[in-house]
Amino acid sequence: MAVPRSRLSNSRKNLRRSHHAKKAKSVALCSNCKAPHLPHRMCSSCGFYAGKAILAQKESA
Ligand SMILES: [Zn+2]
Repeated sequence: MAVPRSRLSNSRKNLRRSHHAKKAKSVALCSNCKAPHLPHRMCSSCGFYAGKAILAQKESA
C-alpha cells in the first residue's frame, strides 16, 4: 500500500474537501396534486407518474 511521504497540512486537506459539500435534494411538484415528490419517481401522496395513475392500476389488476 502507498504511504504518504509527509504530513498533509490542514490547508491542503481543507482545499481537497472544499468540493465535498452536500447539495440540497431537488424536489419536483406533482402535476396531479401539486405535492412535492422526488423527480422521476411516483408521487407518494396520489400515486401518479407522468400524468398517469400508476398505483391505482396496480391495485385493480
Ligand atoms: Zn400527486
